[in-house]
Amino acid sequence: MPIDGIAGDGAVIFLDPDKRITVYKRKTRKSCCSCAVYLAKGDLCLAIKRFKFLFDGNSYGDDHQLMDWFMCAECGKICLDLMEEHFNINIEKTMTENRTNYLENKL
Ligand SMILES: [Zn+2]
Repeated sequence: MPIDGIAGDGAVIFLDPDKRITVYKRKTRKSCCSCAVYLAKGDLCLAIKRFKFLFDGNSYGDDHQLMDWFMCAECGKICLDLMEEHFNINIEKTMTENRTNYLENKL
């Protein structure tokens, strides 16, 4: 289940997170797309596949895959919990902020 679509430059980007936390295996370090902490090889993370669909105003064209994003284990766990609750995650905010929004709206 994709998190959300983000519109930009005539295209829509869909994010498709893994369903589970895995081990980060790349040599190059990446920062968590939520809290910006650096991930190194061997850390636990949530990988997020990204697909870009070109939109011509009427229909979506073929998708092409963009570079994966990653979340640290802490943000990834919040992300998976919120997805389980079918919460509409805003990827431009941190997972902590998303969880706060979720809890506030739940009351
Ligand atoms: Zn994080």
